[in-house]
Amino acid sequence: MKSYTFEDMKKMNRTTLGDMVPLELFRTIRLIGLNQGLPMGGKSTTLTIGRKIGESLPVKTIDELLKIFTDLKIGIPRIIHKDERKLNIVVDDCFCKGLPTLEEEKMVCDLEGAILEGALSKMFNSKVSVKEIKCNVSGHEHCEYEVRL
Ligand SMILES: [Zn+2]
Repeated sequence: MKSYTFEDMKKMNRTTLGDMVPLELFRTIRLIGLNQGLPMGGKSTTLTIGRKIGESLPVKTIDELLKIFTDLKIGIPRIIHKDERKLNIVVDDCFCKGLPTLEEEKMVCDLEGAILEGALSKMFNSKVSVKEIKCNVSGHEHCEYEVRL
């Protein structure tokens, strides 16, 4: 075997600890490891990682993408605006929910946005850009992404 696919990730055989890891581990990797551990908040690295993950997801429609986001417990996404060029996706119960508030305008869910970007770019076979415009950690009521199609 040369490399793994998303389907391989579901193959598990952990008899004692099972198939879940705690949210604090995911947060630690995301925020302390990537965001605080890499130069520039890990901006470009996180984008590369997220896009690659998004491209690897077995989704063919936006509904399937939103469902897998929920299934993976990243958050519960819903579309609040849609036109030919733009899509606004709100994420409730995001992995960052409940963390202490950081300084204003600080957003930390860039990896999750890049996952959407990778999946949507592959789905539409064109360049899609996703930007986080609201985040729990900057005091907003939820996280929100603006998607440019
Ligand atoms: Zn966020």
